[in-house]
Amino acid sequence: MRNSLLYSRLYQWYETNHRILPWRETQDGYRIWLSEIILQQTRVAQGLDYYMRFVERWPDIESLASAAEDEVLREWQGLGYYSRARNLHKAAQMVVEKGWSPFPTRFEDIRSLPGIGDYTAGAIASFAYNQPYPAMDGNVYRVLARLADIDEPFDTTAGKKLFHQHMERLLDREHPRLFNSAIMEFGALQCTPQLGDNCQTCPLQTQCLGFAHGTAELLPVRKPRPKVRDRWFIYHIYICGQNTLIMRREDKDIWFHLYDFPYEEVTAERMKGQRGEGLKEITHVLSHQRIHARYEVHRVQKMPDIAGTFVIRWEELNDYALSRLTLRALDTLQHKA
Ligand code: SF4
Repeated sequence: MRNSLLYSRLYQWYETNHRILPWRETQDGYRIWLSEIILQQTRVAQGLDYYMRFVERWPDIESLASAAEDEVLREWQGLGYYSRARNLHKAAQMVVEKGWSPFPTRFEDIRSLPGIGDYTAGAIASFAYNQPYPAMDGNVYRVLARLADIDEPFDTTAGKKLFHQHMERLLDREHPRLFNSAIMEFGALQCTPQLGDNCQTCPLQTQCLGFAHGTAELLPVRKPRPKVRDRWFIYHIYICGQNTLIMRREDKDIWFHLYDFPYEEVTAERMKGQRGEGLKEITHVLSHQRIHARYEVHRVQKMPDIAGTFVIRWEELNDYALSRLTLRALDTLQHKA
């Protein structure tokens, strides 16, 4: 009974307020999967462009599976978290190999694909096939924490279990597609991290324990974040006529399989000490690392012989998948030139 009131208020709110987004207009598992992978760690406005380009270039899973990994990384360029793109490609190949095209429909099969966790599998199963699985993203954890006034961190094993138990009781098994879409959108637009006066206009206010107890703004609680690690890179941009020297990153490290200028990882002291012709230091922040990068430009008569590198024409750089840091450096370099 309590839930049915909540559903009707939530769905009414959704009907009036939801954004029109292309992946909401489809029940095609492939497209929903693509959008979900692109939107992990990416804002909707930025993800939308990438989504449109991906579906235009690879309209179905077979075409994506037969692309080269390099092409996929190149199209992904600028989105960051490149393991998502590598997993996307691997998953497409797995779906085709297993004969699950156009996209698997069983939750267990979807969950077994690389790059797919409980959230993404639940989102695909409910959005594409209306199956009763929860899809708990950051927005949903926030809404749940506030509605039920839960002050356990949601990102620990025990916390996740507790939130899932709450969700088991809340999920609308008759309309899982609508329920998951509505609660996610509600978290994105109404029950936002900074509440401002959103609670005053909230249709769920009378059912919200966080609001009643005055704790909503403090929720949800996270476990303490790991310390950010600083790293120092000196990049070497060799220019010989129209040519430059690049390498493919093969170490199991950030930007695996992207292309880059040759670089050395050094200590902070060494970075301060050494200085050639080059650009101002660029600081680039990743989720758990802060990269301090300096790009030194070497105009040479003959390219040095550096293991793992190869020569390309400068204008061919655009054909290679580069990290956002390197794109930023190239931007600065072009403005300087
Ligand atoms: S009353 Fe405020 S905290 Fe509670 S659900 Fe609504 S917006 Fe979120």
